[in-house]
Amino acid sequence: MRFQQQVEKPPEVNLKVWACGSDECNGWMRDNFKSDENPDCPLCGHAMVEDERTLPVLENFSAVKKKEL
Ligand SMILES: [Zn+2]
Repeated sequence: MRFQQQVEKPPEVNLKVWACGSDECNGWMRDNFKSDENPDCPLCGHAMVEDERTLPVLENFSAVKKKEL
């Protein structure tokens, strides 16, 4: 029982994402991962469209927050 952990559900936020414009593809990426102003789908190469998704707040802000050394 020592390994029992209380896992807190991470808070969730609505984030801007990019979703693949193809109906047959589920590719998407977070906005801060996009490599371009108008990214192409990494899975199929289709142009992506802006979307919004509810995602857990994870290390998402590590790209924004400066590391304290
Ligand atoms: Zn795609």
